[in-house]
Amino acid sequence: MSNAYLRFWGVRGSHAAPFASHLNVGGNTSCVEIRVDDHILICDAGTGIIPFGNELIRQKDIRELLIILTHYHWDHVCGLPFFVPAFSPDWKVSFFGPGDDDDEIKKHVSAQMRAPYFPVGTESWLANIHYIPPHRDKLRHGPISIEYSNVHHPGSTYGYRMRVNGKTIIYISDNECNFIEKSVRQRRGELNEEEQILYDDMIQEEHQSELDLIENADILIHDAQYTPEDYEKKRGWGHSCYIDTINMAIDAGVKELYLYHHDPNYDDEAINVIYQHAEKIIKENNSSLKCHLAKEGMQIKI
Ligand SMILES: [Zn+2]
Ligand SMILES: [Zn+2]
Repeated sequence: MSNAYLRFWGVRGSHAAPFASHLNVGGNTSCVEIRVDDHILICDAGTGIIPFGNELIRQKDIRELLIILTHYHWDHVCGLPFFVPAFSPDWKVSFFGPGDDDDEIKKHVSAQMRAPYFPVGTESWLANIHYIPPHRDKLRHGPISIEYSNVHHPGSTYGYRMRVNGKTIIYISDNECNFIEKSVRQRRGELNEEEQILYDDMIQEEHQSELDLIENADILIHDAQYTPEDYEKKRGWGHSCYIDTINMAIDAGVKELYLYHHDPNYDDEAINVIYQHAEKIIKENNSSLKCHLAKEGMQIKI
């Protein structure tokens, strides 16, 4: 068996939250490390990738890694200008993310490092940089196989399904569960009978495809950004109410769920209230789902 683990370097959504009241959960934005022996896979490059890069540069054994990006919103790429391995000629850094070809991925990764927003561009990266074009089949990084599919979030956004050490790990940082149902429900009364049947079919299809995506996951890391009250104000923004995330995970037979992409406005206390409620929902459903809060610095053996 390989030595494999997963580590959360950043668990916040939207923007960093380096406030004393938030530090038990953590203030850095999206970044998760998956390590299998000497293979390093990084999911997203939010501010969490900055301390991770500083740690990588201090070790001598590994000089290669793959970064898979769910999309290019700031909270998922804003650590890259400060990711030290990219500035070192000793490293090989590969990128994958949404885009029609490798040039488009390169364009999106480079865009935030242009004047007047940043003093140096990606041309100043000294590492051996690769952009991986879309794959019809699975992507591989050493012993890790990676599949991707589109999720409900503004612009093109991927969710990733990975096989690591015989386990299925799913990373869906930004996704609005039941998007069609939620967006049309309020207007249901305006639909005629034929439209209602069509609408019900679409909901069914959407629900099934979301279940298929996360079905039987050993570990699911999923957007759980909003309370029901905040979700009502931010419907259609591409993030989930944590209750929908938990119900979806229960229905799909997920083993362990990590609530992720925490709202930066929620302090440790508010997120703990979410966790207590999550436990209650699982108990009421007689489900065997194990639910956790993703916290910065948390490391899980795979
Ligand atoms: Zn995000
Ligand atoms: Zn986003």
